[in-house]
Amino acid sequence: MKQSNGTNPKKLIGLVATAILAVAALIMGIRVAGLVQLTREEAGRTPTPSPRIGNIMAVTIDPNAPTPAPVIRHGAQGEAVKELQARLQSLGYYSGEIDGQFGPGTRDAVTLFQQWNGLEADGVVGSETSARLYSADARPMTATAPPSAAPAWSSADMPLLVNRTNYLPEGYQPSELVNMADYCDSQVVRIKTADIRGERVAVDALMTMLRAAQAQGIEVWQVSEGYRTLEDQQKLFDDQVAVYIRDNGLSRTDAESATRKTVADPGTSEHHLGLAFDITVPGVSFKGTEQAAWLAANCWDYGFILRYTEEKESVTGFLAEPWHIRYVGVEHAAVMRDENLCLEEYLQRCGV
Ligand SMILES: [Zn+2]
Repeated sequence: MKQSNGTNPKKLIGLVATAILAVAALIMGIRVAGLVQLTREEAGRTPTPSPRIGNIMAVTIDPNAPTPAPVIRHGAQGEAVKELQARLQSLGYYSGEIDGQFGPGTRDAVTLFQQWNGLEADGVVGSETSARLYSADARPMTATAPPSAAPAWSSADMPLLVNRTNYLPEGYQPSELVNMADYCDSQVVRIKTADIRGERVAVDALMTMLRAAQAQGIEVWQVSEGYRTLEDQQKLFDDQVAVYIRDNGLSRTDAESATRKTVADPGTSEHHLGLAFDITVPGVSFKGTEQAAWLAANCWDYGFILRYTEEKESVTGFLAEPWHIRYVGVEHAAVMRDENLCLEEYLQRCGV
């Protein structure tokens, strides 16, 4: 709109000044509202927040937005944590004290709940986890997965089979490898060499499992092997063949067939998936240790299977390896434990 030529300049200045004051007052009001909201959010996380004035400017403020439910994570305490622990306990995920302290036990229970409910398993109670946890759809942890679950899987949901006759699909790439020495808590597990990697979802499940073992007094754990590339596997294979030729005087053909008894051909090792780990105890043979017994009894609850057992040697074609675990997810692992099926048998039963 065009301004009228007849406006008195002094009156115009007065109007503009009034408008500026009004806008300033509005902004101040919004900032104060924002400070109140910030204080409320922080109070949800920490017991004694002391909001600094400097925080006011750093916060993006929408005065009309509803106050979000506070995120509850490791280190939190208070009534909200008690409520969380009670809920997790009633669903079968938590067996510790209802003490309002969000420690490792509560975090493990949250992670397990997330795994069983198809949520991102990060151990943090954000809006999505909170909504599911307190809804009627919250899935309780059961010792036995419902049998009806198995036929409902589509082949894309099933664990990938890699063995002597089922090669790794060409071009297969793990989705998110993490360097385990950097990623894992060294108080919980020793990572034998600095280059060991694993798929993040499996490494997270491994850490949840080993923290639970530690809480039960089984404390010394080491990871000796994780993800292996095709080139790594080729080198392992070739090195073993060279040893048989050099030390045992075998022909190349004989050395290769001897090697195949203990080393998988490139493309046929589960370690290519990034979902398999060799768990050991430094300095001792793993078989017969309390760690081996704990792993065999409990790994299933955390989504792992003991991949090569004595009982299933004729099906898997591998000698028993009590140290080799494979992540398949809790729902598959629970059925395989309850029905005593190795992966080959389980996939066949599911028609995959
Ligand atoms: Zn292995």
